[in-house]
Amino acid sequence: MQSFVQHTGLQLEEPLIFEQGATGRCGVDLGSPVGSRPLPGSRLNGMTPRASIGLPGLSEPQVVRHYTRLSQKNYGIDSGLFPLGSCTMKHNPRLNEKMARLPGFGDIHPLQPVSTVQGGLDLMDQLSRWLLTLTGMAAVTLTPGAGAHGEACGMIAIRAALEARGQGIAQGRMKVLVPESAHGTNPATAAALGFTVESVPGDTRGRVDLAAMKAQLGPDVAAIMLTNPNTCGLFETDIVEIARAVHEAGGFFYGDGANFNAIAGRVRPADLGIDAMHINLHKTFSTPHGGGGPGSGPVVFSEALAPFAPLPFIRAADGTFELVEQREAQEFGRMKAFHGQMGMFVRALSYMLSHGGDGIRQASEDAVLNANYVMAGLASLMSPAFEGPCMHEALFDDRFLKDTGVTTLDFAKAMLDEGYHPMTVYFPLVVHGAMLIEPTESEAKESLDHFIATLRRLAERAKSGDNAFFREAPRHTPRRRLDETRAARAPVLRWKRDPTV
Ligand SMILES: *Cc1c(COP(=O)(O)O)cnc(C)c1O
Repeated sequence: MQSFVQHTGLQLEEPLIFEQGATGRCGVDLGSPVGSRPLPGSRLNGMTPRASIGLPGLSEPQVVRHYTRLSQKNYGIDSGLFPLGSCTMKHNPRLNEKMARLPGFGDIHPLQPVSTVQGGLDLMDQLSRWLLTLTGMAAVTLTPGAGAHGEACGMIAIRAALEARGQGIAQGRMKVLVPESAHGTNPATAAALGFTVESVPGDTRGRVDLAAMKAQLGPDVAAIMLTNPNTCGLFETDIVEIARAVHEAGGFFYGDGANFNAIAGRVRPADLGIDAMHINLHKTFSTPHGGGGPGSGPVVFSEALAPFAPLPFIRAADGTFELVEQREAQEFGRMKAFHGQMGMFVRALSYMLSHGGDGIRQASEDAVLNANYVMAGLASLMSPAFEGPCMHEALFDDRFLKDTGVTTLDFAKAMLDEGYHPMTVYFPLVVHGAMLIEPTESEAKESLDHFIATLRRLAERAKSGDNAFFREAPRHTPRRRLDETRAARAPVLRWKRDPTV
């Protein structure tokens, strides 16, 4: 058995469970099963194992401790404030979890006869109605499995609508405009679907440069993909004019709705001129995510794109629900097998019903209020990237660290020692040494005050010239600075037994 390594405080580190076990040990006292030789016709059909399959022999406390420690390695929103920007890591009400585990929802199978899943379809139908009401759009599909998958869905619908007009990529409408502050999935989606991506510059206010964007419009533009609020945490103040100009040029307006948490219940995307938009249920409508739960990226469509939405969809008639899986003019069929992430639908509807329309509106207002509170609390010591109030996330650049020898990365690492998961760093790319803080609506004033006080202390320390302190951070984590690039490029995904042990 290998020795335990790198204990820090009461955070214990241990070898893999396979490296801890001893052969022949067992946590329970069971006799050999009677008739343990598999019989012909039994599940193993008379086959006998040639060798041990190598399960570790462990005592019960070893097993319990191992899995308890594993569960504590994942820092999440339930552990503390999670200020990652562009991600909306919000509180997941326990009520949602309870609802998602109800056997009638949790044990449902997509191949069950439709007559036996009426409750599930009813729930999907209600969720669809909430999404249509909140966005003001004409149609919705629930199937996409995440935000990026939703982007693909919306952009395939746009491509199909253009092709139906005789203006497909082959006919020359091949350009998709993407602001330079965009989330990386936007240009990746457009490129993967065969479009040519053209970057739209931002202006000094952190918004799309309207004049530059207009100059890029022409008969070759299929669509613009725009996030609102954008990834600088700012409302695109010219968005209605952007939509008008794109439509006039014959293109479509794809809205990246991942930041819907800032405007839900306040602004309807349809009123902004958006033609298709994904909504990250796992960001706006709770549900655990980030190294954890699955995502769900329903897409809403304008009247013009509704005929090009994917299958399946739900039709309600006379109190029964039907899943429409075929229709005559179907340009791109389905986004995936089956009907979407049922657990996420349950959580999202539970969130909506328990908040009500007024509660969703207040959640958005509180998200914006909290971000501005953080911004105001830090503005005198750190450097906000743009002037004026922000939406749901506060963006700083690294000007306040100028000439201190401390980088954004050093600053983020020092936060770990103070008990904080760092904010998003070096994104968006348009801001030098970016630090993007999204507190979400669910943080109490006291937690925000403590967070602000900690960052202020660190900023003062950096300015005082103590850069050795930052270079050596983090001191208290089990691992210190890792080679993150190598970890991503050359991950070790397979465990092999060390033959010398
Ligand atoms: C999270 C996010 C996405 C992608 O969503 P996934 O569910 O991670 O695929 C796209 N755009 C923005 C602005 C986002 O924040």
